Amino acid sequence: MSRNQQLFERAQQTIPGGVNSPVRAFRSVGGTPRFIERASGPYMWDADGTRYIDYIGSWGPMIVGHAHPEVVQALRETVDRSFSFGAPTEAEITIAEEICKLMPSMEQVRMVSSGTEATMSALRLARGFTGRDLIIKFEGCYHGHADSLLVKAGSGLLTFADTTKNAPSSAGVPADIAKHTMVLEYNNVEQLKEAFAKHRGEVAAVIVEPVAGNMNLVRASQDFLQAMRDLCTADGAMLILDEVMTGFRVALGGAQSLYGIRPDLTCLGKVIGGGLPAAAFGGRRDIMAALAPLGGVYQAGTLSGNPLAVAAGLTTLRLIQKPGFHDALAAQTRKLADGLVALAQAAGVPFSADTVGGMFGLYFRAEVPRSFAEVTQSDTAAFNRFFHAMLDAGVYLAPSAFEAGFVSAAHDDAVIAATLEAARTAFGKL
Ligand SMILES: *Cc1c(COP(=O)(O)O)cnc(C)c1O
Repeated sequence: MSRNQQLFERAQQTIPGGVNSPVRAFRSVGGTPRFIERASGPYMWDADGTRYIDYIGSWGPMIVGHAHPEVVQALRETVDRSFSFGAPTEAEITIAEEICKLMPSMEQVRMVSSGTEATMSALRLARGFTGRDLIIKFEGCYHGHADSLLVKAGSGLLTFADTTKNAPSSAGVPADIAKHTMVLEYNNVEQLKEAFAKHRGEVAAVIVEPVAGNMNLVRASQDFLQAMRDLCTADGAMLILDEVMTGFRVALGGAQSLYGIRPDLTCLGKVIGGGLPAAAFGGRRDIMAALAPLGGVYQAGTLSGNPLAVAAGLTTLRLIQKPGFHDALAAQTRKLADGLVALAQAAGVPFSADTVGGMFGLYFRAEVPRSFAEVTQSDTAAFNRFFHAMLDAGVYLAPSAFEAGFVSAAHDDAVIAATLEAARTAFGKL
């Protein structure tokens, strides 16, 4: 038995399903999850000593590559001064200033420890500020696992839940809570207009992934986001852009800079922790003033703004501001996607791919999908075979047909070429 298998059997004794987050479990693709021992640059090594080119990057955070020497150094310098105080630090001001500089729609920011906390807190703030209950989200978007947001959600829920059922998409979410969440189709402008017309003055917030990355990758149309902005403004509803995945990943200024959309609130995570648990939400100063200790919306966290997480995040944010960083990242990601499309075509496999900055989507269907319904029409059996062929060849893709992929600055030409070589064989075997 391989060491990965041994560890998986042992893990299942004390950890539900053997994993601490569902998509790690390989349940949709089958097989044994790899237990990772270490990672460096674009590579990860598992418990059997096998090396993989990593296209998950901890689901987004590792944008400068694993164990970047400058991030390691920042952590070393921080750790000697202890790791948590439960009192404010100067580094928290610095990271807040940095975030507000990079995303000018964020006039003030509050640090939290996970994307889930960021979206959950932003929703409470939007509800507290507007005095309204109703929220609108979109099918296939994942905003963490707060009760209000586990309604037709993406990510692991899309992989595992029965998506034919209507809200909620997890057991344990009271219908009384889910009823305040309206779920509309992604990229459907007409439906959004109808919803606002029908619920005038009732919508607290619209929350959206401006580039969806939890139902594979699906871009929002410019019209869709613009309509959302206009409708929210006209109705006094808050527009929350969930940039936990896209923030600092699709562009230095996030998806909001690509689309030229100014949200009322933004949620960040993943890259801003550089691989440590940090996330944030922020936006208009008048809205943020409703938050405790200034206002009546309560929100708190023992480890919020944790010194180690802030050090890793701040160093990562500095590294990605080097001139040309995102252009180079986008070019490498594009090279990978174009290469895969060409190989699939040569092998006669129905396949398409899309990229936005350092994020990519691979689809086992002829056309790039524009909606949740289109994404679900991909050939998941073909994806699963491709996934395992790639894994056997030392390329670690997300173990689900419904997740986006991530490239880091450490994925140089040689790494992309090695990936494409593995893909040539993998497509050939389909
Ligand atoms: C990952 C993610 C979250 C949740 O973040 P966690 O840190 O896993 O709680 C929320 N929204 C989006 C868009 C995400 O990609």
